[in-house]
Amino acid sequence: MLWGLPMSVKHSVAAVLSRSGSGTLTSRTSQLRHHAFGSLCTALLLAANAGATGDALPDRSEFMTQHMPYAAFDRMPQDHLKVANAELSVAFVPGNLKLSHERILEWVGERAQIVAGYYGQFPVDSARILIVPVDGGGVKFGQSFGFRGAALRVMVGETTSSAQLEDDWVLVHEMVHFAFPNIDDAQLWFQEGQATYIESVARVQSGDRPATEVWKELVAQMPKGLPQPGDQGLDRTHTWGRTYWGGAVFCLVVDVEIRKRTQNRFGLQDALRAVVRAGGVTTQNWPIEKALDIGDRATGTTVLHDYYDKLKADPGTIDLNELWQRLGVRVDGTNVTFDDAAELAGARKAIMTRPAA
Ligand SMILES: [Zn+2]
Repeated sequence: MLWGLPMSVKHSVAAVLSRSGSGTLTSRTSQLRHHAFGSLCTALLLAANAGATGDALPDRSEFMTQHMPYAAFDRMPQDHLKVANAELSVAFVPGNLKLSHERILEWVGERAQIVAGYYGQFPVDSARILIVPVDGGGVKFGQSFGFRGAALRVMVGETTSSAQLEDDWVLVHEMVHFAFPNIDDAQLWFQEGQATYIESVARVQSGDRPATEVWKELVAQMPKGLPQPGDQGLDRTHTWGRTYWGGAVFCLVVDVEIRKRTQNRFGLQDALRAVVRAGGVTTQNWPIEKALDIGDRATGTTVLHDYYDKLKADPGTIDLNELWQRLGVRVDGTNVTFDDAAELAGARKAIMTRPAA
């Protein structure tokens, strides 16, 4: 079946040699979020809608494969966004969307800018972004891939509103996956934990969500990441809770510990920026130790190795209530207050403040 799309010159996307690896899947609980939306769109629309040549355009079914449909994507008309150092190629699978393509592209650019802000650069120089219209409303689901170049696929409901795009966490989550190498499947928790934790932190740093809301959410959600009876440590307990929120708890704990040991000069963000600068991105396969080495070196500590060694094969003894108290985060029903006299109040503030690039 051919789609009635305009024919024009096909934009060439740099071919990336095939690598092994698998996609990471987003299935975090969806929750409605409200925030004052900042002015973040600095993406520049480079060239709209470069189209395909005489090749037959792919059928919708070609995009619903288990893995990223790279070949089908490359036969599609694409829009190109320049965000920081990166060029993002965006293609829309034919389908109904209430919002205009321009509004979706604006959203993609805003989300990419949030991620670039966290890492000091967009993690990869180019990425394919496939928008798949589906039934219903809201951003439903996303997947990130790296084995033939950074790519993600995101399902956007037909009736999605502009406000729902502004509340969306999925796209930032998927883009954060670009910023770390593929590691062993046993350590999927570290990839998902980073995406879960950094999505929240990066959005606060960008002014996209208030810190109060994010701390409230972390206090509410992080208990889901704590070990249950029979837990054998993060590398050996592959439940949903331990993978997403257990990984996020790990990220928060090491973030706080790095800041504590360095008097807030460094945090997890510095470690992860160094990994990206060293080329540790989604297209690469690394042993986790290599990333931990680079991260620890960047902060002048051994925190990543210390906590990984402690928690990879043992449930550990993380006390979240004690952590909230030391950070000075108090949640009373729906009300959040901060105690600036708390021992680690400085770390709490530093986590949510974007450092200089
Ligand atoms: Zn994920």
